[in-house]
Amino acid sequence: MPARNIEVFRTIADFRRACEKARSGGARLGFVPTMGALHAGHLHLVEVARRHAEHVAVSIFVNPTQFGPNEDFAKYPRNLERDVELLSGAGAELVLAPTPEEMYPPGEKTRVRVSGLGEHLCGPFRPGHFEGVATVVTKLFALAGPCTAVFGRKDYQQLKIIERLARDLLLPVKVVGEPTVRDVDGLALSSRNAYLSADERKRALAIPRALGAAAAAFAAGEHGAAQLIEPLRAALGAAGLRADYADIADPEELSPFAAGARVGERALIALAAFCGTTRLIDNLVLGEDVAPMVAPASESG
Ligand code: AMP
Repeated sequence: MPARNIEVFRTIADFRRACEKARSGGARLGFVPTMGALHAGHLHLVEVARRHAEHVAVSIFVNPTQFGPNEDFAKYPRNLERDVELLSGAGAELVLAPTPEEMYPPGEKTRVRVSGLGEHLCGPFRPGHFEGVATVVTKLFALAGPCTAVFGRKDYQQLKIIERLARDLLLPVKVVGEPTVRDVDGLALSSRNAYLSADERKRALAIPRALGAAAAAFAAGEHGAAQLIEPLRAALGAAGLRADYADIADPEELSPFAAGARVGERALIALAAFCGTTRLIDNLVLGEDVAPMVAPASESG
């Protein structure tokens, strides 16, 4: 696709004005919030936004309030020039790249919390994370105005929280969730994959492999919660990955099933695991998502 003219806004006032202008004459706006360090997963979201709207805006903001004190805020990869080039090629026209002071003006006190959904899965391991996400996304939605906002199912818990806040706060935003884009070897694309050494990258493949095995067991009729999740936990451990959690949960409420429970037609398997010092997340909704295709361990080394 020919690169489009792309405008980068540093101030929220200019971005807000540009979004309003983009909608003039009844045109629709698509919106893709990101933290930058873009990869093919993000560009897929831009393509989907283009299908929903005549104009597409993207935000690039490494949001300080969603990082814990011992997390990777300072070292999170940042490369605005490269990101803008990729976005231009993907057909986005408006980019918001604000400073933290623009997004969090001095003296600000407001936070958005979606109760319940943030308490499971990643919640206990990243205190304040989803409050930071919900707050920044609410601010971004307020800036973009009426739009179709596209998010990835890679961050499934985040997606469910954003769907709920848009609905509960009566925001004029349609939230669309897109399947996880994976590398050819099955690993979910993530800006944080850049932290992995070659050996860690290989070991990380235990994640999509274990998700694929759970999907195969489910397809073969296994609906026992423990029977589905225990082999996955064991496979992560065998690959030397240290899981914060690996749970099988209700795909809407995100509450984990008890070990003795039998799951229904859909069940979310979600995990966060450290590969070296890099925390990776992945998930699959059994009965809904296409399972990752991964070569067996012996073939990929
Ligand atoms: P981030 O990587 O945190 O900047 O995420 C920005 C958006 O891209 C979020 O909606 C993510 O869920 C989405 N995203 C990140 N990785 C992927 C992926 N591999 N496939 C699809 N969407 C993704």
